Amino acid sequence: MSTFVTLSSGQRMPMIGLGTWKSSAGQVKQAVVAALECGYRHIDCAAVYGNEQEIGEALALCVGPGKTLRRDELFVTSKLWNTKHNPEDVEDACRTSLAHLGLSYLDLYLMHWPMAFQRGKELMPRRDDGTICYSDMHYRDTWKAMEDLVEKGLVKAIGLSNFNARQMDEIMRVAKHKPVVNQVECHPYLSQADLLSHCQSLAVCVTAYSPLGSGDRPWASPDEPRLLEDPKLVGIAQRYQKSPAQVILRWHTQRGMACIPKSVTPSRIQQNLNVFDFKLSQEDMKLIDSFTCNRRFIVPTVVRDGKTVWRDAEHPHFPFHDPY
Ligand code: NAP
Repeated sequence: MSTFVTLSSGQRMPMIGLGTWKSSAGQVKQAVVAALECGYRHIDCAAVYGNEQEIGEALALCVGPGKTLRRDELFVTSKLWNTKHNPEDVEDACRTSLAHLGLSYLDLYLMHWPMAFQRGKELMPRRDDGTICYSDMHYRDTWKAMEDLVEKGLVKAIGLSNFNARQMDEIMRVAKHKPVVNQVECHPYLSQADLLSHCQSLAVCVTAYSPLGSGDRPWASPDEPRLLEDPKLVGIAQRYQKSPAQVILRWHTQRGMACIPKSVTPSRIQQNLNVFDFKLSQEDMKLIDSFTCNRRFIVPTVVRDGKTVWRDAEHPHFPFHDPY
C-alpha cells in the first residue's frame, strides 16, 4: 500500500503526518525532531496552536542545505485562523506563519474553520459576557484571497478544514484554485462516511484530525468514552499484535484518508508511523466502521443556563448543523 496520497494538485502528501495541537513549548521541538528522525515527512501546524516558532527551530535543525533533509522532501501544512478571514489580512497571516516556521513556502494552507471572528490581534475576541465576537465575512471571499497566495508562490496548494459538504460545494463553484484537502475530525466514533464519499467525488482528499479521539483535548470530561481503551478495539489490536492506536491509523489509511496523530512521546511517534506492515481484513474494517456513533469531540462547548451547549452554534457559518 502506498504511504502517500496524490492530491488534485499533483503533490504527494504522506498519509501519516505529525499533529502539533497541544504540543507545548519545551515539548514540540523535540517531538518534531524525533518525528523527522524516524521518517515522518508531513507536519501539521496552525497559527492558533501558538507553537509555530518552536516547530521552526526543529525544522532549522533538520531541513535545508547541509542538513539531513531537503525542503522538498517535507510536506508542511499551516492554517489561517478565524480572525484573519478579511481578505486584507490573509497574506500577512500566511507570511507570519512562514516566518515563524522559517520557510519560504507552505505545501498546504488551510482555512481552519468556515467561521470568521472579529478582525484583530486577539485570537478569541470576546465581549464582556465572555461570548465570542463573530464577523460575517464570507468564506468565499476569504478563499479568493487564499488563491492569491498560490499565485504568489507562498503556498503550493490551498484547502479547507471543518467545512461541511454544502460549504465545500460553494467553494468549488467559485474556485479558480480548487481545495485539495478538507481536514475534518474523524475516528471510529465519527467515521464521516458521507463526507468522505462527497469529498472523493470532488477529488478532495480528506485528512482525519483527532484520528485517535483526542484524549488530551482540554475539555475532555472523565465520563466521556475513551476511544483508545474501547474493549472491542483492544480485542482487534490483540489479534493483530498491534496497539489500538496502530489499528485505528491503519483503518484510516485503508479507507484512503491521510491522518495526523499528535504525540510528544518518541516511542508513540515512532509507533504511529509503523502501520504499513499489516492489513486489516474486510471484516475487521467493517467491524470498526460499525463503532461510529456520531460522537464529535472537537466542538468548543460552554455552559449556558446549566446546560453544556456548542459555543459557536449561533454563528451563521457554523458547519455542524448539516448532517454532513
Ligand atoms: P489525537 O492525535 O487523536 O490524540 C492525541 C492524544 O493521543 C495525545 O494525548 C497523545 O499523547 C495520545 N497518543 C498519540 N499516539 C498514541 C499512541 N500510539 N498510544 C497511545 N496514546 C497516543 O488528537 P489531536 O491532537 O486532537 O489531533 C491530532 C492533530 O490534528 C492535532 O494535533 C492537530 O494537528 C490536528 N487538529 C486539527 C483540527 C482542525 O480544526 N483542523 C482540530 C483538532 C486537531 P502524547 O502526546 O502524550 O503521546
